[in-house]
Amino acid sequence: MSGKLYLKRGKCKPLANHHPWIFSGAIDRVVDAENGETVEVFDAGGKWLARASYNARSQIAARVWTFEESDEIDRGFFERRLTASIRRRDSAVVGAEGLTPSGAFRLVNAESDGLPGLIVDRYGDFLVAQFLTLGTDRHKAEIAALLSETFAPRGIYERSDVDVRKKEGMHLVKGALAGEEPPDRIEVSENGLRFWVDVKQGHKTGFYLDQRENRLRSAPYLRGDVLNAFAYTGGFGIYAARAGADQVANLDASAASLGVAKENFALNGLTAQATYIVADAFEVLHTYREEKRKFDAIVLDPPKFVSSASQMPRGLRGYKDINLLGFQLIRPGGVLVTFSCSGLVSPDLFQKVVFGALRDANREGQIVEKLSQAPDHPISLSLPEAEYLKGLVVRVW
Ligand code: SAH
Repeated sequence: MSGKLYLKRGKCKPLANHHPWIFSGAIDRVVDAENGETVEVFDAGGKWLARASYNARSQIAARVWTFEESDEIDRGFFERRLTASIRRRDSAVVGAEGLTPSGAFRLVNAESDGLPGLIVDRYGDFLVAQFLTLGTDRHKAEIAALLSETFAPRGIYERSDVDVRKKEGMHLVKGALAGEEPPDRIEVSENGLRFWVDVKQGHKTGFYLDQRENRLRSAPYLRGDVLNAFAYTGGFGIYAARAGADQVANLDASAASLGVAKENFALNGLTAQATYIVADAFEVLHTYREEKRKFDAIVLDPPKFVSSASQMPRGLRGYKDINLLGFQLIRPGGVLVTFSCSGLVSPDLFQKVVFGALRDANREGQIVEKLSQAPDHPISLSLPEAEYLKGLVVRVW
């Protein structure tokens, strides 16, 4: 017998529209359910609406597995959702090299692929998974077995060492889930370039796969003297160097990341064009402003500044400051490529902040490209919250 969750009167609209999150405030009562279990969801009138995983410790107290009553949450369910997700990863979605042996792409993008809280990324022969919610964590063994069967990777590595797990009352864990433990670095290819990825220690699951298209699309704008701020393992800078930039200064607070960046430039035979600066980006950009140092193009790809509503004012100030500094360092006719990966900051709001920075810098500019997350990080139309990455390519004079 599964537990039952009854919604309050007047709180069914989002669910009726297949939005997969049930906030604690929408719940009237829960009967016979422990955290992590699957519950049947009913409206106030007792009509069946969905089957969801329940977790009273999270603000999102239930996450919908299915809106189909015949869809039991068993092995077959996960198999159907995983196979569908894999099938959707065709070459249009994963990039030209995604399906080759050294391809890297996101295989499962959580709610947007019908699997709340589950992220699976592929790096060559290995899969890296994140179980971000208690519901999906409970099905870890089943999911790992299905991934082994359907994808036959050399190994599956878990990177559930993500802070959002704390909001679900879970510990952070990482380690091998199935098959071989991945080597310290895996070589992947992306748009004709090669990258070392450390799936065990690197950020997220090892690489910012969500920027794949943006790295390619912004490269032609990155000419002359380029500053790649928040460079991580080189990403945008390596694309810029290949596209013919004269010099690429890679700036990051993490020495380890820039160490890998250096090896990635070497791996692509682009060492001559690159320099590396281990420092705080805000400080370095201030110094450059004082020194009147200028660049022809700057990439700003900072970490998430806003993770909760309370961080909004401070985070927006961060975006404003860094973009203001960016605009002040760009030569007339140059380009700023600027991103925000804070889901709570909408593309419109981000554009306003960038505009504010441009005005404060007393410059003029035009948007030449609007960028979003790569197509293997799809956004379910029922869950607009799944859109988090946005970027602008701004020509400045
Ligand atoms: N553009 C990269 C991804 C950048 S992720 C790519 O395409 O792969 C954000 C990076 O910002 C991380 O590498 C992190 O180490 C760095 N970072 C965070 N805070 C920073 C700061 N204050 N100054 C400089 N770098 C910072």
